[in-house]
Amino acid sequence: MKTSIATVSISGDLREKLAAIAAAGFDGVEIFEQDFLAFDGTPAEVGRMVRDHGLEITLFQPFRDFEGLPEPQRSRAFDRAERKFDLMQELGTDLMLVCSNVSPAALGGIDRAAADFRELGERAGKRGLRVGYEALAWGRHISDHRDAWEIVRRADHQAIGLILDSFHTLARGIDADTIRAIPGDRIFIVQLADAPKMTMDLLSWSRHYRNMPGQGDLPVVDFMRAVAATGYAGPLSLEIFNDQFRGGSPRSIAVDGRRSLVNLMDQVRRSEPAIAIDVPAMPEPVQVEGVAFVEFAANEEEAGALGSLLMTMGFAPHARHRNKEVVLWRQGTAADGINIVINTEHEGFAHSSYLVHGTNAYAFGIKVGDAEATVARARALGAEPFEQKHGPGELAIPAIRGVGGGVIYFIDDRSASVWDIEFEPVPQAAQSTQAGLVGIDHVAQTMNYEEMLTWILFYTAIFRMEKSPMVDVVDPGGLVRSQVVESADGAVRLTLNGAENHKTLAGHFIAESFGSSVQHLAFRTDNIFATAAAMAGRGFRALEISPNYYDDLAARFGIQPELLDQLRTHNILYDRDDGGEYFQVYSTNYSEGFFFEIVERRGGYRGYGAANAPFRIAAQKRQLRPTGLPRS
Ligand code: MG
Ligand code: MG
Repeated sequence: MKTSIATVSISGDLREKLAAIAAAGFDGVEIFEQDFLAFDGTPAEVGRMVRDHGLEITLFQPFRDFEGLPEPQRSRAFDRAERKFDLMQELGTDLMLVCSNVSPAALGGIDRAAADFRELGERAGKRGLRVGYEALAWGRHISDHRDAWEIVRRADHQAIGLILDSFHTLARGIDADTIRAIPGDRIFIVQLADAPKMTMDLLSWSRHYRNMPGQGDLPVVDFMRAVAATGYAGPLSLEIFNDQFRGGSPRSIAVDGRRSLVNLMDQVRRSEPAIAIDVPAMPEPVQVEGVAFVEFAANEEEAGALGSLLMTMGFAPHARHRNKEVVLWRQGTAADGINIVINTEHEGFAHSSYLVHGTNAYAFGIKVGDAEATVARARALGAEPFEQKHGPGELAIPAIRGVGGGVIYFIDDRSASVWDIEFEPVPQAAQSTQAGLVGIDHVAQTMNYEEMLTWILFYTAIFRMEKSPMVDVVDPGGLVRSQVVESADGAVRLTLNGAENHKTLAGHFIAESFGSSVQHLAFRTDNIFATAAAMAGRGFRALEISPNYYDDLAARFGIQPELLDQLRTHNILYDRDDGGEYFQVYSTNYSEGFFFEIVERRGGYRGYGAANAPFRIAAQKRQLRPTGLPRS
């Protein structure tokens, strides 16, 4: 598999782009003319720079408004092409992209266009160059790859071929299987992009909202399966126009790009077993079975405060690490209960994380069938493995670095006994300390909005997890975008919150914790009222919800007065969907905006109480007010 990416896909000047593209492991680049024009070197220098990075130029683009023109525009178009051919030879690339004509002057006519391409093929062929023709979704006469292929077919010249672009085909809803009728050796390059479902004109959608395969909603896998069926073996080239990416980190966008292509081809290989697909073998997407534990890094004093808060929620210290300053807090039965680890070591990764972020949930463990295979898949997809030296008798639990710099451990049958092996029990408090919390419902991570797609691709590529549609959460300080990544059975649910500015609660948390990611943990109970009462008895202070909320709730859902009273008494938020009901209680903020949530799901409720978020945020901001918000 040869991978390539258009320079236009990432930010930076040409030098930065090439360095990031090479570091991410691509084989080639499409040189976008604009990038080249903005660079203050000669074409030959650009070509040398590309090759010095170990890359090749897979394509020079774009050449616009060529085919089907009347004279004198037609002759001028050929003159323009000759000048670009000169440039390509200096650059050291042999393939040019011609996109379908959008000019009002274009006459149309398949044979007229074919004749133009035949002549262009003659001129290109003499120089050892090739030309690929791409149907723009908004082309004046040609906007469908089937028509573009008919022109290429009738041009009947070795130097003229077809260029496919998943966006142009899929955005118009053209059946990708029609590609299966095209000979693979007549396809000169395949460009790939995904995009979120949106209703807007095709040109704006394409120029601003494309994203990496797997980040959007288009059936790019179906597209690529059809391409694979043709026998096409050339480069797979990302061509992503996205405003966020152009403002993002070149390094991380390039890594996302490479990851998206490897993941895409892995999916194609799995769904087309009869076709030989050239992609490195890797374990299948990982089924996640639950959150095994969440680990906090803290200093002794803050660990004490965190422990006190956990106690009010019915947790008790369960075991202590034999060699380290690490305590396991637990609620529920045996290892299937909720495991919260507090690490106050003065060395190692947890300590470094504490020094940067303050007390924070820097790591979590996910239960999987095979932890080694999970790490192997993650590595094949460009994730960084995490290793830390371990003491005698301690287990080496397979782990990777998460996107935000935290750690994700993988617990399987081989390591499930870690609590018995590395920890010794502390004298047990009575069962009555418990408050009925039975599991982790979701882990909420916060990041800058521009990074959200990176997180989503990371999780959905490695794990068998699906992303939900994005929801806007209105914070009085600005918008927060929320998107869920979850396994089909809900065993692992991650809610991702992208903050656009630091005046939102989420943005405040990012700023104050210097980029810590886990902002809240939601525990599950099977009886919210019993749990709320038990926690209140232990001194838990629920986040106080405005009385106005309950008046509104009564009006919205027609809730019975007795139930409403109970909700109000315990500051419980309520939501309902077609599947069932949802109950939520929040803790007050711990530290700089971290908090806990307790939820009960009744029936098949699938959401996260998005409608309640503005009320929750307003209450949390009231609590933060003495320290001042925004900080900045
Ligand atoms: Mg294209
Ligand atoms: Mg939540």
